[in-house]
Amino acid sequence: MKNRLLFLGPPGAGKGTQASLLCKTKGLLHLSTGDLLRAEVSAGTPLGKEAAAIMNSGELVSDEIVLSIVEKRLSDRSPGWLLDGFPRTVFQAQALEPLLQKLKQPIEVVVLIDLKDEVLIQRLLARGRADDNEEVIRHRLRVYREKTEPLVQHYDEKGLIKTVMGDGEIDDVASRIEKVIS
Ligand code: ADP
Repeated sequence: MKNRLLFLGPPGAGKGTQASLLCKTKGLLHLSTGDLLRAEVSAGTPLGKEAAAIMNSGELVSDEIVLSIVEKRLSDRSPGWLLDGFPRTVFQAQALEPLLQKLKQPIEVVVLIDLKDEVLIQRLLARGRADDNEEVIRHRLRVYREKTEPLVQHYDEKGLIKTVMGDGEIDDVASRIEKVIS
């Protein structure tokens, strides 16, 4: 089984849920930039204060902030990791490469969890997080298509992409993921 993974997909596709499940069962480090940023926001740190307004508008936090958070946490001590919500731009992906090279830990598989926009919007509306009102959701989807979706081609060129559909029950999606990472 592969143990250096990246989850890619639009907001609402279920990346966070699936990533938590998988990391628990496989003992991988779950690196979710969304969770880490929200932790900074609730702790009221200067970084959190800077990030909060941007997150609530559906825009992306600066590459600089996100990279500083990720860099602190990647180390060669971890038996494996799952990157969730990062990289989110081609710039971030390019910045990540030398870090992983230094650690001699290349990404082994990129799982693209995909879902139709209408389903994504319904799910996010039901979730009701601070950044989950309809206008912000639509904006986040546009930001995803524009800035993050180019990563699909980026990683496909490296032969790393495996696509799974994110519809249906949590367990069904989990077993689809198991199949492509084993
Ligand atoms: P979702 O999966 O629903 O899009 P996340 O929890 O991954 O939500 O992220 C929530 C917000 O945090 C994003 O809309 C963005 O503002 C910020 N964020 C998370 N990860 C990154 C990143 N890698 N680069 C820039 N901003 C990020």
